[in-house]
Amino acid sequence: MSYFPADMPRPEPNADEAGFWAHCKERSLRFQSCAACGTLRHPPMPMCFRCQSCETAWKEAPEEATVYSYTVVRHAGHTAVTARLPYVVAVVEFATMPGVRLITNLTDIDQTQVAIGMKVRLWWDDIGDGMQVPRFAPAERLKV
Ligand SMILES: [Zn+2]
Repeated sequence: MSYFPADMPRPEPNADEAGFWAHCKERSLRFQSCAACGTLRHPPMPMCFRCQSCETAWKEAPEEATVYSYTVVRHAGHTAVTARLPYVVAVVEFATMPGVRLITNLTDIDQTQVAIGMKVRLWWDDIGDGMQVPRFAPAERLKV
């Protein structure tokens, strides 16, 4: 069962985002980088903002991230999330991927316990039809 109800709107990747979501389907969190100069960028774009190259590569992110910022959603912006309230939308960043920040959900935590700078770990949310969505939970909660 996915984190959000089945009627939650699904990602609808455009041409630039297709590579990101194709890797997600393989449970591989990869961010676009410039094949010419190595600059990382997210969300995916057709051209490097540093050197204007259109050649891209996809670099795998570490499973551990740090909360850069977050908000607690208490009012439903869509009827599908009403039963999930309150939930946490977080911006996370990765120690080895400067400049990359991912908007995601932070799960398995009381929203009063969320803190900027806390370590979180990737988990994959299977939302059906082969689509996997990267979400994060406190690192200590997901240790086996
Ligand atoms: Zn470049």
